[in-house]
Amino acid sequence: MNFQLSEEAYKDSSRLLPGGVNSPVRSFKSIGISPLFIEKANGSNLTDIDGNTFIDYCLSWGVGILGHAHPKIREAAHLAVENGSSYGAPTLLETELASLICQSTSSIQKVRLVSSGTEAVMSAIRLARAFTGRDIIIKFDGCYHGHSDMLLVQAGSGLAGQVNSSSKGVPVTVVNNTVSIPFNNPKALQHVFEKYNDQIAALIIEPIPANMGVVIPSDGYLEFIRHITKQYGTLLIFDEVITGFRFCFGGVQKLLGIHPDITVFGKIIGGGLPVGAYGANAEIMGLIAPDGPVYQAGTLSGNPVAVSAGIAALTLLKDESIYQSIEEKSKDFFYQLASICSKNGLMLNGFKNMFTPYFSKNPVTDYTSSQKANHEAFSRFYIQLLHQGIYLSPSGYEANFISAAHSKADLENTLDRIELVLKNN
Ligand SMILES: *Cc1c(COP(=O)(O)O)cnc(C)c1O
Repeated sequence: MNFQLSEEAYKDSSRLLPGGVNSPVRSFKSIGISPLFIEKANGSNLTDIDGNTFIDYCLSWGVGILGHAHPKIREAAHLAVENGSSYGAPTLLETELASLICQSTSSIQKVRLVSSGTEAVMSAIRLARAFTGRDIIIKFDGCYHGHSDMLLVQAGSGLAGQVNSSSKGVPVTVVNNTVSIPFNNPKALQHVFEKYNDQIAALIIEPIPANMGVVIPSDGYLEFIRHITKQYGTLLIFDEVITGFRFCFGGVQKLLGIHPDITVFGKIIGGGLPVGAYGANAEIMGLIAPDGPVYQAGTLSGNPVAVSAGIAALTLLKDESIYQSIEEKSKDFFYQLASICSKNGLMLNGFKNMFTPYFSKNPVTDYTSSQKANHEAFSRFYIQLLHQGIYLSPSGYEANFISAAHSKADLENTLDRIELVLKNN
């Protein structure tokens, strides 16, 4: 396989875009090769500008649960564009998407649409601080919640979870109120609640983390989080930007029956266009302007083209048989992949249709164990797999996804290729 045109394109883009890309992980920096420039995608396939075609498991970082270029989503977006692409005034479409989101999740009575996951999280935190009149935010090492200043922090130090910012340009005073603790560690949780007590506005969590690679919460852990946040009057925010509408029509909260106070969505709910959302009960959402004193706005919020794509996606997903069929395919796939991984000394973490293989002998249960995996071995594996026509998410700290568009043949082919590559790794 030849990547010459992508390599040239990357040189050109690097002259004009920082790092040649508009979002860092796209640069393949951790893999150590030029990123592929994509020409088009359809179903489970991704085609680069050199004309190579791949089976895609990145799916725009989980957006593409229905596969790429689904005809119904294309049609909806086309139709919307014909009518003008932005008015800065309300449309019926926004009520329709809000209705789909509120139907999906009993913890949400009202929702505000925005244009990205970052924006939704940032606004949800402002809302939680306003509602509680408190400042401190607890997050977990390795969980990602977008790039707003207060959440760009390094893993916490010790049980106290004190943090430094993980990016230049973030004042210390902005992250002073963020505490980050290890995932799957009830003791650390208990400790920060005892320490910061009635100052904690919100705890934010990816209920099934996917941004340190997939990590599974231990039994009872999310229940404990729900319990302790209630006990201390802290709002629980589920960041379901990846997990929302990925496993069922709703979020992980619906699957597990654990209800947060505020939920954040993104990725899937825009059908491949920029949409984010945050929602809660009517009392909490009543604080948002113009009803209440928490200011939050957006010129392109609820954009008719993006929202039309989102409605088309969620309308398709309302038919839960889609999830059943993805789950059945995924089950077989994981069963076999787990066996290949264990034969070759890898750990496989998976949840339904989302997975990360780790070059690790030990179970990966938190950020520290994810960091201890052999990420160089992952890069070698990645490059060889790319040459076999398989496109995973380009980092060992990311999740891979199976969509409705992946065929049994795609999955079997992928297993064969993985086995082949691991034999030579
Ligand atoms: C992708 C992601 C975000 C950020 O969303 P953007 O649309 O990239 O701003 C936030 N939280 C989680 C869990 C994500 O996976």
